Amino acid sequence: MSKRFVLDITLPEWEIWVKEKGFPQYRAGQIYQWFVKGIQETARMVNIPEKIRSALSDDFIIRGLTIEQELTSAVDGTKKYIFLLHDGHRIETVLMKYKLGYSICISSQSGCRMGCAFCASAHAGFGRNLTSGEMLGQITVVSDRIGERIHSVVVMGIGEPLDNYDELIAFLRAANDEKGLHLGARHITVSTCGLVPQMLEFIYVNLQVNLSVSLHSPNDLLRQRMMPVANVYDLNTLLDACRKYVTHTGRRITFEYSLFDGVNDSVQDARDLAARLRGIHCHINLIAANEFDGSPYHKSRSEQVRLFQNTLEQAGMTVTLRREMGADIMAACGQLRRGLQEKGQP
Ligand code: SF4
Repeated sequence: MSKRFVLDITLPEWEIWVKEKGFPQYRAGQIYQWFVKGIQETARMVNIPEKIRSALSDDFIIRGLTIEQELTSAVDGTKKYIFLLHDGHRIETVLMKYKLGYSICISSQSGCRMGCAFCASAHAGFGRNLTSGEMLGQITVVSDRIGERIHSVVVMGIGEPLDNYDELIAFLRAANDEKGLHLGARHITVSTCGLVPQMLEFIYVNLQVNLSVSLHSPNDLLRQRMMPVANVYDLNTLLDACRKYVTHTGRRITFEYSLFDGVNDSVQDARDLAARLRGIHCHINLIAANEFDGSPYHKSRSEQVRLFQNTLEQAGMTVTLRREMGADIMAACGQLRRGLQEKGQP
């Protein structure tokens, strides 16, 4: 049987493992705690005897994620990490510092199958789903690296989280576990391009995490050009699922809208968007679009962004403009990994 990564093991599974090995029961909690702290070398597990450390190395993958590159923005201090996974796949993780604390944007897959036309991850192709432990590890390893606790998490990096549903749910439960990382569910946001069946399932798992939906267009025709998923689920179907989320959870939903010059940023687009979303308890997050070489779309001009935002606000919508972070280190999802692939690396 192939070895599992230590962060994929739950506390009850550690309890079974120590029992099978003949180690004292209390060791399970100690082992779990060490790995949740981001430790990836057994030598650092100072209260664990050598015999147990060596059994751990024999039975499990201890180092699941290695930081291959770390870039720091000279503009705002945003950090971007390229992680090499134990089997050679690569993912990206972005760390941002806000007034409230550190926020981390993690990947859920190596690459993405969704094929959005404006996204570097889609252009770089699909590798594989991440395990829950590999999602958790992006938080724990970065937290250990900077010596600080992470305040909030967005699952918005490379990949479509709801396309890796079971591992995502396992990750959310592990991140929320009070004996482990103990991250408040309300400090976690899952972002989807709109996989409706999984969204409906997600609504009813009763995790108090935030849901964010990438819309990027007020009409089906344009959305279909930008996002292939829109050919499967039209806006009416998607927005019905969003209404169900709001009704069932009592929580506000966020719509992400990236602005592209001359594509989806006209005043009429803003009016159509407001009309579409009227009556849904929501918040619109406008994004200064991330460009990458070869992208068919370009960033909207700042006057146009302001006009778009004003039009939405005048229509009574709650809108924020996401600050562009780490532009000088290519913080947009998938750009660095794509760069490495173009140099012939997996
Ligand atoms: S935008 Fe998100 S869902 Fe679309 S291809 Fe990129 S990573 Fe996948």
